[in-house]
Parts: sequence; C-alpha cells; structure tokens
Amino acid sequence: MTSGSKFRVGICGAGIGGLTLAVALARYPDIEVVIYEGAQKLGEIGAGIGLFSRPWELICKLGLDEELLKATEIRPVDGPVSTFNYRLSDRPEGLEFFTLVTKGNLMTFHRPDFQNALLRKLPRSTKIYCSKRLLSYTQRPTGPVELYFEDGSTATCDLLVGADGLKSAVRRSMFTDKAKVAQSEKRMKEAGEYEASIEPTWCGTNAYRALIPTDRLNARHPGHRVFTQPTQYLGKNGYVIAYPIAKGKLINFVAFTARHDLEGTKFNGPWVSPVDSSEVTEMYRSWEPEVKALMDCIERPLRWAINTVRPLSTYVHGKVAIIGDAAHASPPHQGSGAAQAIEDAFVLALALGHASTTRENLPRALDIYDRVRRPVAHDVHERNRINGQYFTFHHTPLDEDISTEETLRRLQDLSYRFTKNWEWAWSTSAEPVVREALELLNSS
Ligand SMILES: Cc1cc2nc3c(=O)[nH]c(=O)nc-3n(C[C@H](O)[C@H](O)[C@H](O)COP(=O)(O)OP(=O)(O)OC[C@H]3O[C@@H](n4cnc5c(N)ncnc54)[C@H](O)[C@@H]3O)c2cc1C
Repeated sequence: MTSGSKFRVGICGAGIGGLTLAVALARYPDIEVVIYEGAQKLGEIGAGIGLFSRPWELICKLGLDEELLKATEIRPVDGPVSTFNYRLSDRPEGLEFFTLVTKGNLMTFHRPDFQNALLRKLPRSTKIYCSKRLLSYTQRPTGPVELYFEDGSTATCDLLVGADGLKSAVRRSMFTDKAKVAQSEKRMKEAGEYEASIEPTWCGTNAYRALIPTDRLNARHPGHRVFTQPTQYLGKNGYVIAYPIAKGKLINFVAFTARHDLEGTKFNGPWVSPVDSSEVTEMYRSWEPEVKALMDCIERPLRWAINTVRPLSTYVHGKVAIIGDAAHASPPHQGSGAAQAIEDAFVLALALGHASTTRENLPRALDIYDRVRRPVAHDVHERNRINGQYFTFHHTPLDEDISTEETLRRLQDLSYRFTKNWEWAWSTSAEPVVREALELLNSS
C-alpha cells in the first residue's frame, strides 16, 4: 500500500461501472485503486449507448462531460425535446402515433468512445491489469480481502468492488458464502434465496444489435427517417429501435424479439453470439418498408439473449460490494443499465471518500451505499420490464380488424402508460439519493 493511503480498493471489471467508480474515486487521493479486468485488452462492444438527464447530471459532477462531448455532435439541452418517434410497424403500412417528449435530450454515444473518455480521465496512479479474470475471493473479519484469479495468481485489497457485469464472479462468491452460512445455521429458506441469486435468468427476449454505416443506408434508402429522428418501431412480440451515433456516421440498430411466456427460464445457447441476419429479418418479414430498409442493411448482427439478475436482498457483504449489472442487470427497455451503474459508482465513491470512512469501518460505508441505491435500482428494474411488455403490445390487442380510430385510441393509451412508467429517467434527479447518503454518513 502506498504510504499515506487510507485504504486500497480493488475493482473487478473495467466496464462503464468499474471505470466510472475509478474516476469518481480519483477525487480522493488517499484512496488507492487497482482495477482487475478479465479481458485481454480493454474494449467495449461496438454499439450505441444513450443517457438521459439523470445520469448526465452525475457525468457533469464527475467532470466527464467535456471528454464525452468530444465524441458526439449532440449538445445537452435543458428544455423539452422530441426524443423518439413511435410507429405501429408490424404491418405493410406503418402508422405514426406518438412523439416522446423528454426534459433534456438523450445523449447518445458509440460505446468505445464512451469507454475511451473514461480512460482518459483516470489518473496515472490508477493501475489497470488486464487478463485478470477473478474466480472467487475470501474475506475474514480482520485483514484484507483475498482475490483468486483464473491464471492462478492472487492479490489482496481492503475493499473489493464487483463491477464484473451480468455473470459476476463477485456476486457468485458473495451469495455462495451467504448461502453456506445460512445453511450452517439451518436457515434453509434464506439459503435457497441466496442460491437463487447467483445465476441470471433469461427474460424471454433477444436483442439483435448492429451498427449500420449511414452511407450504406443512404445509398439504398435515401433520406431514411432515422437519420434525423430516433425512432421506435413497435409490433406484436417485437420492436426495433434506431438512432444515429458517432457524429452521424453510424446508425445504432437493435431489434427485439419477445417470448413473454418464457420469462424466468434458461436460454439454451450462447448469450452473445453473431448470427446470420436472416434469423432476425425473418421475424420482421411482414413489417412496414422503413423497418425492412433497416433490416436490408444489417450484416451478421450480434444476438444478445437478455438475461437479468433477480432483485437481490443486498449488494454488500462485509468488505465487498457489487455495482452495475453485477448487482441489478435489468431488461434494457428504458436504456438505463449503464445509467444505473453510473449512479452506483457515484454514491459508492461518495461513501468511501467521506471523511468518516476509514479502513476499519468500511462495512458501514457499504451499508449506506446498499441502503440508498438498492430500492432505486429495483424500481428501475421493474419499470424496464414493464416497458418491454408495453413496447411489444403484450397487453394491448391491436388486431387488423379493429378500426383505425380504436387502434389509435389504444395506442394513445399505451403511449401515456409507457411515458408515465419511464419519465423518472428524465424528470427526476439522483440528488435526493446522494443527499440521503450524505445525511447517513454525517449522522454517526
Ligand atoms: C441491447 C442493449 C441496449 C442497452 N442500451 C443501454 C442504453 O442505451 N443506456 C444505458 O444506460 N444502458 C444500456 N444498456 C445496459 C448497459 O449496457 C449495461 O447496464 C452496462 O453496460 C453495465 O455496465 P457494467 O460496468 O456494470 O457491466 P459490463 O459493461 O458488463 O462490464 C463488466 C466488465 O467486467 C469484466 N469482467 C467480467 N467478468 C469478470 C471477471 N470474472 N473478472 C474480471 N473482470 C470481469 C468484463 O470483461 C467487463 O469489462 C443496454 C443493454 C443492452 C443489452
């Protein structure tokens, strides 16, 4: 440990959550940070990411906005903005029915640009080790946390943060330990709950992701709507979202296919894999021409089987915490998973950097993080899940024999419901959560 440092934080995972935490902790020079990343080199998947005003506020507080704005031509706006167009699209002739107006705009980025901006903000003192895939850890009431890596090496830290995503090894280790203790004390129901918290489950939905070069789409379908207006094309059991990123050079494309009856089951097959585009275009064969034009331009999309983590009973154990997808991987129907990881990182750094936090009372800081962040993240999880149902007309029958007036009435009702369910993302701030954490930190 460097002389003068309060404690050492080991962060497992250099995704958006882990890197944001490292940037946020850099404000406290007496906290030493080491990042262990499982991949051979740092890299985000080539896809888009969008952030509403709630996380953007935190991005600004962390001083990340300037770097990020270099990667997009979009400038933040405070007032009302038309963010997405909505179309009924699962028929030969589409129908526009709604414009989502948000407070402030959706800031969209190419993920690798976002990750590079975070990396540029890290101080030189932050060490990052790649090819360090964590297998498990052990902790005792006193002494450091011991980390065990796949390559046979070990390391220690005073506090371990699992920012290691959906399949988190830290979550596995944490809930395996908790289950063992509960079993040994004959609390069998609790032990069962802990065991069930380890493995993610499939939510019955697949997302097909691709980046479409704008030039390609323009050559084949000049003046396509998505160049100027981010759009969601909705239909029974599926929807498509498309918007420009990378200063307009690319269109971020995601097509979802939903089997709500399979929610909570196990997906058979790899969770992320390149597939032939026919796997997705087949399902959208009878959709309106605008959607088929997009499908016409995708090559080898990546199929993501959307797996989620059930709402957990805690995000902390002793001197170990989990953040981001490791703690609350949700269905991605409100574009808020990374945003929630940023919020976790912000609050956790605040708790760790607080003057009252020392190496000896780290569990107290973690408990405060858990207490203020978990209810918010669980609420967001459920809201994402419900929007997934709204966008695929799960409870809204729109058969072809219904009159246009009645179809529009149902769509307007649906728009009202999904907006109400989603507006927390742009009409609320993380400030009350931050304040609550500060009050708890100051109070004892
Ligand atoms: C289709 C889709 C669209 C989305 N769109 C948006 C959006 O617009 N806005 C938004 O906010 N969110 C969006 N999300 C959600 C967002 O992508 C995730 O919530 C976010 O990336 C989670 O970040 P993370 O850092 O927690 O995890 P990850 O990004 O998964 O990072 C985890 C890191 O840990 C590393 N790792 C894993 N295991 C280990 C190990 N054992 N040891 C060491 N390192 C390890 C990984 O290599 C990786 O670098 C979307 C998700 C999907 C599927």
